[in-house]
Amino acid sequence: MNVSFFMPTQVFLEENVVQKKADLVRAYGKKAMIVTGKYSAKRSGAYQDITAVLDEAAIPFVLFDQVENNPSLETVLVGAAFAEEEAVDFIIGIGGGSPLDAAKAVAVLAVNGLNVEALLQNNFKEALPILAIPTTAGTGSEVTPYSVLVKKDLETKVSFGNEWTFPKLALIDPKYTEAAPLKTILFTAVDAFTHSFEGYLSKRATPLSDALALSALAVFGQCLPALRNQEFSAALREKLMYVSLIGGLVITQTGVTSVHGMGYCYTYYQGIPHGQANAFLLRSYLAYVDTYEHDKIQQAMKVMGFSDTAVFLEQIDALVGKPRKLTDEEIARYTTQTMIQTRSLANTAGEVTEEVVSALWTTTNLESDS
Ligand code: NAP
Ligand code: FE
Repeated sequence: MNVSFFMPTQVFLEENVVQKKADLVRAYGKKAMIVTGKYSAKRSGAYQDITAVLDEAAIPFVLFDQVENNPSLETVLVGAAFAEEEAVDFIIGIGGGSPLDAAKAVAVLAVNGLNVEALLQNNFKEALPILAIPTTAGTGSEVTPYSVLVKKDLETKVSFGNEWTFPKLALIDPKYTEAAPLKTILFTAVDAFTHSFEGYLSKRATPLSDALALSALAVFGQCLPALRNQEFSAALREKLMYVSLIGGLVITQTGVTSVHGMGYCYTYYQGIPHGQANAFLLRSYLAYVDTYEHDKIQQAMKVMGFSDTAVFLEQIDALVGKPRKLTDEEIARYTTQTMIQTRSLANTAGEVTEEVVSALWTTTNLESDS
């Protein structure tokens, strides 16, 4: 048996974690840049908590709060130039996956001469230390090396990441998700689920990643009734954060698959949030992968508490709704654009050719709202 595992992030998931781990935060440098979106870092209370820690230690900081949902390369270049100008020596990302991913790109670009080509080819051996504080329970970006950015000339998202882009420290406090809108909670929860599910079905799955994935899927199954009834307790928030964390650990080992690769089209062309985009693609993905991984799919359903996939998919539909119908032109364009996502397609069961991708889009469309 060949098993390998690499995940160098120091992780803490507990209440009031930022205050409790203040000493660790202070050790990372002499001047920080905090990278956030417009509102959520402050609304969640995480910004106030971390700046109190920095103030107490007399560590100066600057704020870069221009990260949009699905951050673009242009935005991280602006952030990196600012980091360079301010001579900061560590980066603190606060937010959902968008600010956390942007923080990773800023940390690399700020010390590698703003070289985008080198960034996207993972051709760098240095980055400022990154600290990550999630405010959504979804991406697991606090423990992955990945950063997903919009590349406008390609009309899609691209990702990069190597051993230098793992956050050094992930401080996870479920209370930060309290301020998130209902749809964000639901969509990000499904994103977290897809990480463990796709990772479990990935060609790069290992016995170790499978053990993690199944543990997260079991907890996600426990969360589904409360998510459907919108009963958001502290216990539920904690479980969702756990599912998100484990999902990040899983995809760090296995990568994501065609669900993520295809979902970027829904996000780029229709502005559909990441987790919802993934969810829309689950039905056709399950039907396709079942040919190759029937037993694993059954096992995943079993640990989540479902006797068959149809009932499970109905539950997901109830959380996220249905996509609108695509035109033939859109199916053709989305198919071409999906083929750019070579890594996630290579991780998917079977051999995902252009014909397969086109068929997946067509099947997804059959199930869509008119
Ligand atoms: P997000 O894009 O970071 O945030 C979505 C929205 O939710 C934003 O408007 C944000 O506000 C708001 N929000 C977040 N937390 C909140 C809180 N606690 N209270 C109130 N509002 C809150 O969403 P996400 O789903 O977490 O991240 C998606 C991104 O991550 C995508 O770009 C996706 O491709 C990427 N991703 C990365 C990985 C990885 O391994 N790195 C994995 C999966 C997905 P603000 O704008 O004010 O912040
Ligand atoms: Fe994701």
